[in-house]
Order: sequence, then structure tokens, then C-alpha cells
Amino acid sequence: MKIEKTSHSRIRKMNFKNIDFGNQYSDHMFCSEFKNGKWKNSIIKPFGKIMFSPISLVFHYGQAVFEGMKAYKDKNEEVFLFRPEENLKRINRSAARLEMPTIPENIFMIGLKNLINIDRDWVPKYYGQSLYIRPFLIATNGALSAKPSQDYMFIIISAPADTYYKHPLKIKIEEKYSRSASGGIGFTKAAGNYASSFYPTRLANEKGFDQILWTDSSTHTMIEESGTMNVFFHLKNKLITPKFNDNILGGITCKSILSLAEKEGFFVEERNISVSEIIEGLQTGELREAFGCGTAVVINYFKTISYKENNFDLPNLSEKERISLYFKKRLLDIQHNLSEDPFGWRV
Ligand code: PMP
Repeated sequence: MKIEKTSHSRIRKMNFKNIDFGNQYSDHMFCSEFKNGKWKNSIIKPFGKIMFSPISLVFHYGQAVFEGMKAYKDKNEEVFLFRPEENLKRINRSAARLEMPTIPENIFMIGLKNLINIDRDWVPKYYGQSLYIRPFLIATNGALSAKPSQDYMFIIISAPADTYYKHPLKIKIEEKYSRSASGGIGFTKAAGNYASSFYPTRLANEKGFDQILWTDSSTHTMIEESGTMNVFFHLKNKLITPKFNDNILGGITCKSILSLAEKEGFFVEERNISVSEIIEGLQTGELREAFGCGTAVVINYFKTISYKENNFDLPNLSEKERISLYFKKRLLDIQHNLSEDPFGWRV
């Protein structure tokens, strides 16, 4: 792999005390091209603009898939990734569904590890902070006819991220719009899934909600996920999450919470959950907690769930009583090498 280091590092301009997430990117990026059926020209080079033909399929038919992952530092400033092989598997599931080439393990892992090593100073060092990593694969050639591209580019960029604290969320159960449908691409991290969620999310924001709780597209009676998070419900002493299916993105945070919870003796259920079961739990008080989980937030708990214009408040528990905050700390401690890693997730 070719490595071209920048002669103008921007790290001195980076204010790690006040990280403006998404507006500052690390010095380098990784690129690899897929042409004539082969991966070639892997390179780490200075972060910068890239140029594609206007007929690139990504602009017309949306052949674009991506990942979201993080690198963390421990007290000795050693850098760790968290379960990166899961991101590789998922981007390849996404790519296959969008009729794109899959990315070989060595290209993904060697590109990723070398990039983060070169940009290791960009990994913030305090608990909860991280370097957010965005691998993505796009179609770079084509024609105006609607058929898959011949050429693709795989790119990895990264950006420092602060402790992501968000207030407890006010959530609306969606009754009209959907983010995915059976037989569709909801289980992939396809760019278009996000584009189609922006409009209903804005409508919900305008009514004072932070996020949508997505339901199945045909009946709107079964819970799927929330915003860009998987969801958990602490109901009748069980930790319940909707079973992954082709409408739901299989989250790595969700899978990790399930493994930890099972190991630690919690009653865990992965199964279909209906809206009426949740509403009943809210009315009887048996729903103690509901929360979303994902790489960006780790875990964010819900304060209010709204259904058909009725707002239901969740119990006002102390921080110590919250199972959501317990698992948030468990995950962050593993990610920052502050506790043992029972499943070997740190890389
Ligand atoms: N669902 C959706 C739609 C998402 O975009 C994400 C974020 N990747 C998640 C769930 C959570 O996945 P993960 O825990 O792997 O970040």
C-alpha cells in the first residue's frame, strides 16, 4: 500500500477540549479502487477532495453503503478499535444487497489499522471521547441507464468525537412513514435509508420530538428501531429488543449489550414487540425503561413515548436505578480498556 503523508498537519488547529464533531477531519484518508473486477491502488493520502465523473452511479441510482465505528484511547494512550470485524461483515452484507463488490478483509483491516495508526494523535484521550471512523463504498462509474456500476471506490475518513451526551429523548411512535419494508434494504447501511428518514424526522422534530420510533411498514403495529439506534425495553424484569430482521439494521452496540446482559444473568429476549405491549407497559408502569443504542450515542434513554397524540412519561428513575446507564458504563469501560474484555472485543 502506498502512503503519502501530509506535509501540513492540521492537528495543531484541533481543539480537543471543545470538539466540533463533523467539522474537523483527521489528516489522512484511505482509498482503494475496484476496477475491471479487481481491487487496486490502495493508498493512504492527505484528506482532501475527490473527483468523479458526473455519470457516476452513486449520483443517480444511489449505490452507496457505509459504516460507523470508533477508535478509543486508554490511559496509556494505546489505541483500540471495537469489534471492527463486525463492521466489515456488515458493510459486505450491505454491498451484496446493493449489487456492489464486497471488500476483502485485508483491504478493509490493513487500510483501517494503518490509517488509524498514522492518525493516532487524532484519537482524543478522555473517557467517552473517540475518533469516529466512517468507511464507505460508492459507485464511481456507470452510464445513465439504471444498472450497476463497473467501478467503485472504498474510502475511510475519520473525525474526533466528544462524549456524546444527549438529554433523555422524547420519542414518537410512527404511524405513517417507514424507514424500511419487508424484502427491502432496511438491514443495510445504504445511504438511501438515511435520506428517506430525514423528512419524517423533521416533521417529528417540528412537533417537539427528538426521534421517531419506527414501526413495521405494513401495519405500524410492531416496533423496529429508533432514529439511528436499536431499541431496548426493560419490561417486567426482562430486557427486550426487537429481533433483527430484514427491516432492522443489526447494530453492533445492540449485539454487545445482549451478550453482556446474558453473561451477567439478566433475562433477555430478542423477539417481536408490539406497540400495544409497550403502551400497556407505559400505562401499568411495568415498562421501567426504554432506550436506544448505537455507536454514536452508546446508549440514550427515553423520557417520553408518544402514540396517537398521547404522551406517556417513563418512570423518573435515579441514575443508579437505570439499567441503560449501567450498560453504557460497561461498554465504555471495555472500549477504553478500563475493565476486562470477556469477549475479546478490543482490537
Ligand atoms: N440502526 C440504524 C438505522 C443505524 O444507523 C445504527 C447506527 N449504525 C444503528 C441501528 C446502531 O448500530 P451500531 O450499534 O452498529 O452503531
